[in-house]
Amino acid sequence: MEFDFLNKNVLVTGSSRGLGRAIAQRFAGSGARVVIHYHKNRQAAEETLADLPGGPHLLVQADVSDPTSVERMVDTVLSATGRIHVLVNNAGIFEEYPMLELTYEQWQEKWERTIRTNLLGPANTSFCLIQHMKKQGGGKIVNISSRGAFRGEPGEPAYGASKAGLNSLSQSMAVALAPYNVFIYVVTPGFIDTDMTAKMLSGPEGDAIRGQSPLGRVAQPEEVARTVVFLASEGTDYLTGCIVDVNGASYLRS
Ligand code: NAP
Repeated sequence: MEFDFLNKNVLVTGSSRGLGRAIAQRFAGSGARVVIHYHKNRQAAEETLADLPGGPHLLVQADVSDPTSVERMVDTVLSATGRIHVLVNNAGIFEEYPMLELTYEQWQEKWERTIRTNLLGPANTSFCLIQHMKKQGGGKIVNISSRGAFRGEPGEPAYGASKAGLNSLSQSMAVALAPYNVFIYVVTPGFIDTDMTAKMLSGPEGDAIRGQSPLGRVAQPEEVARTVVFLASEGTDYLTGCIVDVNGASYLRS
């Protein structure tokens, strides 16, 4: 085992499929007890759960854009496990739209849904857990952001803004919570081969997207999952507040 998560409980939001599934698999492969979370796709979540090594693992449903649903999820998870050592805020949405063709009402709907899911979801899930983490001696939170936070998202400005907000939230929390041994990390992937990007990658823009990286391809979910598990592992306390790019040199910043 590369990392040892024996006797550690890990909640991965949006782990029914895509990146979240790969993260859940890697944690379970490192000995963790994993809570698989889904929104609507119970069947995919059950398949993910059935494929995990070790266990016993758990399954939980919640809409992260709904604060009441988030609170219920955290209560359920804590009463089943007693403690969450690692939270990965991974659930998210990306809805492309032609900005200039939207009505004002549509524009507001897109912003509301995206900010509620991608920014308020992680903020609320973290809030519900951090008091417990503090009481129980510490914890780690890894937030899945995006390259779009830096590079902009002309086809989905609310998405870019939600992820830039998530970066800022993470860094504020890192400073506020380090005295309680609660450490916060951000991963900012470029394109990953998941359902979220399937249409774009198989369409006319697919080659141009792959060409954004000098590797000539997009990331596989497992490549991003590796970094997430590393950040949540022992010995990374001093990395708190970091933002780690996993984008195949498709966007460089210094
Ligand atoms: P995905 O394949 O579309 O999966 C999205 C996951 O989020 C699913 O598990 C889904 O649950 C869950 N979800 C969506 N809306 C939710 C809600 N309102 N409440 C609770 N769960 C919800 O996406 P992905 O590509 O794996 O993306 C995972 C994360 O990586 C996201 O935060 C995304 O922004 C980020 N990211 C992705 C890429 C990329 O290229 N794919 C690049 C950079 C960052 P159900 O299955 O139940 O619907």
